[in-house]
Amino acid sequence: MNAFIDILHQAHEGKWCVQPFCTTCGSMEYRNALAELARQEGNQLVCTLAALDLAELTAYPDWDDALRLALDSIDRADDMDAVLTGWLPQLEGNIRVADLVLFNYVRRGALFAPMSVEVLQQWRDKCGELSKRAGDEH
Ligand SMILES: [Zn+2]
Repeated sequence: MNAFIDILHQAHEGKWCVQPFCTTCGSMEYRNALAELARQEGNQLVCTLAALDLAELTAYPDWDDALRLALDSIDRADDMDAVLTGWLPQLEGNIRVADLVLFNYVRRGALFAPMSVEVLQQWRDKCGELSKRAGDEH
């Protein structure tokens, strides 16, 4: 199993809090699990996120909050680039993930979100293409 999905599974089973702005517990159990994965050789958090099956991700009820916390824990542009490049080919069937990333990261731009201008542009192009195609179908 993908190690990130494994954490989502544990979070779900253990009823861990995954709210990005939780002022009660700071979602510590989930954050600690993410940090532990990130400490594994070659940053396994980045590797497993990049290899994530987005359909498998969105099967979890709180996937959006959990995903935001995971992405927020990445602060290097090349790490974020690796994750976002890995997801590009899957966006078409996973519009909700595309929207979340577009709204929270891509729209903020490379100055505020850790990613390269190249990857930012690839995402803008891909999402533009997808929404144009969705529009054509109506
Ligand atoms: Zn909490």
